[in-house]
Amino acid sequence: MAFSVMAALILVLGVTAGVLLLNNKDKPAPTPEAGTNASETAGPESTPGSEAASPAVTEAPKRIAIAADQVRRGDLLLVNGKYDYDFDANSDLVLVNIKAKQSYDYPVSKEEFMVASHILSPLDEMIRACDEAMGTHYTSISSAYRTYDYQWNVWQQMAELYGQSYAEKFVANPGYSEHHTGLAVDLGIIYGDGSEGSFSESQNAVWMKEHCADYGFVRRYAEDKVQITGISNEAWHFRYVGVAHSRYMADHNLCLEEYIDYLRDHTSPAAPLEIKTDSGRYGVYFTAEDSFEEPPGSYEVSGNNVDGCIITFVME
Ligand SMILES: [Zn+2]
Repeated sequence: MAFSVMAALILVLGVTAGVLLLNNKDKPAPTPEAGTNASETAGPESTPGSEAASPAVTEAPKRIAIAADQVRRGDLLLVNGKYDYDFDANSDLVLVNIKAKQSYDYPVSKEEFMVASHILSPLDEMIRACDEAMGTHYTSISSAYRTYDYQWNVWQQMAELYGQSYAEKFVANPGYSEHHTGLAVDLGIIYGDGSEGSFSESQNAVWMKEHCADYGFVRRYAEDKVQITGISNEAWHFRYVGVAHSRYMADHNLCLEEYIDYLRDHTSPAAPLEIKTDSGRYGVYFTAEDSFEEPPGSYEVSGNNVDGCIITFVME
């Protein structure tokens, strides 16, 4: 199941990011070894007089170009007080209305709430599993995708209600909220009679913290990471990063800032960070270049929103 989510995600990413996706079986004839710098590999031109006839020559792997704005797109974007969300680079972000499209009927506090289309299925599955484990039916969504204007209004309201210093401390500036990505949700509790409960104090929060990684989500703002994230402990805010990354971050207690840093130490496709999940084995590495070696199987590309891209590929 998780693999099909990954496959769907790859498809969405591929379509939206315009990244060329190829499977082993669709793999075209490899380009000749000669002339393998990125700009020259686009066309399959053969080089006369090359050593192609020699069986000893191994063909250079095909290289995939990375678009200039890819660094600002993808599931691993680091959006925080320092790095803003690039709305222009993500103008083709596909959003879906949660209430209209959810496959499991959980409460959503506002009818208009939307998330990035490819995270709805794992979100549905995660909430369903939590409710099943709790034997209740009131895990809800209390915030989801936010536009720039929406965040601006939230900020203004908080400043008016509690003062500017409060707003500066607890509300992200417009453009700097993870909610702009469509990859983040705030969870809540809404009982059958419509009244609300405290998610932070619920057993649901305990379950979510423990199991969200199984669905590709991380509990983004932990108590022991406040100094790094700049955001106070939030038991309710969950961010989708994809199941390989959520697994690694949870197992090693890394927040997204730390994980993005850590990945910069892994730049070799031949010696990637290896991550095992229930759905398979993944190789992960960082590149700041404008192209990368085509992995042998399925893969996805995400910018880190700072200085490069992360390649995640399925290992055999
Ligand atoms: Zn939030």
